[in-house]
Amino acid sequence: MSRPSLSDRKTRIELRTRDPRWKAPPRFIAANECIHCNSCVRACPESFDAIANVSHDVVIVPELCSGCPKCVDACPVDCIYPAADWEPTVQDRVWKEVARDDED
Ligand code: SF4
Ligand code: SF4
Repeated sequence: MSRPSLSDRKTRIELRTRDPRWKAPPRFIAANECIHCNSCVRACPESFDAIANVSHDVVIVPELCSGCPKCVDACPVDCIYPAADWEPTVQDRVWKEVARDDED
């Protein structure tokens, strides 16, 4: 059986795995600096669609973030930083939120 391709967002969500070919680190949003304008959500390319509204926070899911970094340019308060030491996303509610985008 062929190995599923991590170049596909749906597969990254199913496997909860980042594409290892992405060399730039993912980004993270400093929650205490974010003004919840959602500019970053609109700026993130559809093929990554890595930013979600979870509860009252705007969060980047590192497994979906290529580090491109279009959101950084879009953020009016400059609160999106590289996360070289990122940790896997373990909250099911985050994965449910990003999977919902694929159901539209
Ligand atoms: S760095 Fe790129 S892929 Fe990652 S959240 Fe920002 S816009 Fe999306
Ligand atoms: S663009 Fe910046 S301030 Fe606006 S929601 Fe995204 S991280 Fe927060």
